[in-house]
Amino acid sequence: MPVAEPALVGNEIAYVNEALSSTWISSSGKYIEQFEQKFADFCGTSHAISCCNGTAALHIALLALDVGSGDEVIVPTLTFVATANAVSYCGATPIFVDSEPTTWNMDPAAIEALITPRTKGIIAVHLFGHPADMDPIMEIAARYNLFVVEDAAEAHGAEYKGRRVGSIGHIGTFSFFGNKIITSGEGGMTVTNDANLASRMRQLKGQGQDFKRRYWFPIIGYNYRMTNIQAAIGLAQMERVDWHIAQRCANAQLYRDNLGNHLSFVLQPELPGCKNVYWMNSIVFNENFPYNRDTAMEKLSQQGIETRPFFYPMHILPPYQHLSNKRVFPVAETVAARGINIPSSALLTEREIKYVAETLSCLANGDE
Ligand SMILES: *Cc1c(COP(=O)(O)O)cnc(C)c1O
Repeated sequence: MPVAEPALVGNEIAYVNEALSSTWISSSGKYIEQFEQKFADFCGTSHAISCCNGTAALHIALLALDVGSGDEVIVPTLTFVATANAVSYCGATPIFVDSEPTTWNMDPAAIEALITPRTKGIIAVHLFGHPADMDPIMEIAARYNLFVVEDAAEAHGAEYKGRRVGSIGHIGTFSFFGNKIITSGEGGMTVTNDANLASRMRQLKGQGQDFKRRYWFPIIGYNYRMTNIQAAIGLAQMERVDWHIAQRCANAQLYRDNLGNHLSFVLQPELPGCKNVYWMNSIVFNENFPYNRDTAMEKLSQQGIETRPFFYPMHILPPYQHLSNKRVFPVAETVAARGINIPSSALLTEREIKYVAETLSCLANGDE
């Protein structure tokens, strides 16, 4: 039972074949515009700009917001490495912030102390599908004149106080890697309501070319475009996005119903006012669990259940260790050391989830 697998259950094959037979296989073609339009409507933003992956989406978002050498950007330490790397690509420095203990997202109460004259903005990550606490983050950003980018790579369709993630900050970024909530193989998208930022991101992903003057490059850009083939897959996934999200939420409900109340681990919750889309169902063991995390993973694997450890926090990775400046990240470190992602695919059956829950319950009771 895999942690993640793509669910290609709609028009994916038909649209890819159509793209191939039309010969529009590179970065022009009807599927690109259709995918972008559908995604903008889904997020409730006026613009969506496709690109080649979620990391490139973060990179062009930060460049459009003028992040450059010497700048600082505040990011959660508990995230996938792409969030921090995109800041580094701009020559800027990621400043890491600890997690809050309930959802494990960035702790808004820890942000203000990190702001310096060099701080340009904040990247909020919606970890595993649960929205970060956006109100206090937006409030601090407004007070210090900082931008907010939402890294929503794991959270397509998640909601914070009735608003879709990606539409709350200045720019939202998404990934369509094969293991995400919806996929285009590889792929990314940025969304915004700001026409100027949208236009800058479009230019940046297309080698920096002037929109009106061919082969005129007023800025240094990148080749970060999505292909029509990727967009064909992405559009087919978007046609069924509500189903993909509903499946993941149903998985989470089944886990909750079948795991009951164990005192030795917690599931990622869904806070009031939030919609968690459960990209990953996630468990954090505490000291009462009879096995350490890695032994528990090994035992689950022996029962045919794939799991993944949480990401290492960024501040312990070799490129970023020197940045932690004696600051401590007790929540992120504990959660990262004790957390696992369990099977979460949209294709899981009720029987499979019950089996995972049963196996976990046995382990929690100390049974082999
Ligand atoms: C997957 C992911 C990304 C990067 O997306 P790619 O499409 O793999 O480049 C960025 N941020 C987070 C939080 C992710 O989970």
